Amino acid sequence: MAQNYYQKEIETMPREEMKKLQSEKLVKQVKHVYENVPYYKKLMDEKGVTPDDIKSIDDLHKLPFLSKADLRDAYPYGLLAKPLDECVRIQSTSGTTGRRVVAFYTQHDIDLWEDCCARAIIATGSSNKDVCQVAYGYGLFTGGAGLNGGSHKVGCLTLPMSSGNTERQIQFMMDLNATILCCTPSYAAYLAESLKEQGYTPDKIPLKAGIFGAEPWTEEMRHGIEEALGIKAYDIYGLTETTGPGVAFECSEQTGMHVNEDHFYAEIIDPDTGEVLPEGSKGELVFTSLDKEAFPLLRYRTRDICVLTRKECSCGRTLVKMAKPMGRTDDMLIIRGVNVFPSQIETVLLNEGYQPNYQIVVDRVKNTDTFEVNVEMTPEKFTDKIGEIIAMEKSLANAMKTMLGINPTVHLVAPKAIARSEGKAVRVIDKRKLI
Ligand code: ADP
Ligand code: ZN
Repeated sequence: MAQNYYQKEIETMPREEMKKLQSEKLVKQVKHVYENVPYYKKLMDEKGVTPDDIKSIDDLHKLPFLSKADLRDAYPYGLLAKPLDECVRIQSTSGTTGRRVVAFYTQHDIDLWEDCCARAIIATGSSNKDVCQVAYGYGLFTGGAGLNGGSHKVGCLTLPMSSGNTERQIQFMMDLNATILCCTPSYAAYLAESLKEQGYTPDKIPLKAGIFGAEPWTEEMRHGIEEALGIKAYDIYGLTETTGPGVAFECSEQTGMHVNEDHFYAEIIDPDTGEVLPEGSKGELVFTSLDKEAFPLLRYRTRDICVLTRKECSCGRTLVKMAKPMGRTDDMLIIRGVNVFPSQIETVLLNEGYQPNYQIVVDRVKNTDTFEVNVEMTPEKFTDKIGEIIAMEKSLANAMKTMLGINPTVHLVAPKAIARSEGKAVRVIDKRKLI
């Protein structure tokens, strides 16, 4: 595929030049936060580091980390680095793992965020000739706003659908010939299911690319969506604390996401010791926003677990690549002492011919963890014969045991019995936390 770039000079910048750019930005940024955010000044003072100690990106490790707890602590204005009258927008996390966090943006911040999303759209081979259906939620959630802005920057005809109302999504997709779909992967899978039910085969669907993110999804799920919709499905990553989607995006190679590292410097650390790990190691992803003005987080611990690589990419971009996050450190369930990621369950389901429509229910009974997985039968696998259902449940439980090392109780339920989410899917119900 011929390569297109939105900001070629940056996206293909030689490593040494990029390092220089990052260093210049970091030196300025550290001064900015030290002088304007008392919360940071205190953290830096406690660690005995001053802006003078930061001369290049190689000094980054000297700075203290910032965690979600700090953000909650400082809510709402404690980390604000610009006067409110210079801010133009607030967005908020979806609150997947607790109290929402708010982030502030100046116009400069919105611009750089939308540029990042524009890079992601162009990297799918799209252009101003495309019709971009944005089915991420609009509002406080960053998904809709970010891709909407990126789509405008590229010059696509933008359909600001927001999430939900599947009938209308399908009608507009068909009537207006949408060629790019932006939404969560779980909603893309749901849309694909609904399109199929209405008799639309992939050749009748005008889409050619999807930009899916905001939640973990597996390779198997990617293949399923690509086949069902007749598209290429690209991953996109981001978090409200850094801006929103577009912090990293996938290119034609589809082997991980290029980090927009002129704006967001990525590190991988050992989540237990905080030590910076070498390229290729699996650990917690940490971001430093190099030139955001209003809410510039330094060394923010995302709790997402992944790997960074600088292997040459066939798309020509030199930006460092992050692997698909495997889940969050706080997504990881510890069941009977064993680490379990929902993504592992999803992989088993897709390998065994099921759809990723499932819910994990964990509880504690008489000091022992119970571990149940509710899985929808697909229309093809559907049966109401008890014997067959029991055999299928056993076989799925065995496959999960092989993957995880512990035995779940699998319940097969009727197709569509598990509530569908229009935003991020709810995969885990952990009742142990309620005790
Ligand atoms: P919340 O933490 O409330 O979900 P956000 O809506 O800002 O807040 O979501 C950011 C998080 O979403 C990331 O930290 C990451 O865990 C997850 N995420 C975003 N994009 C992806 C992606 N492409 N793959 C896996 N996880 C993702
Ligand atoms: Zn690439």
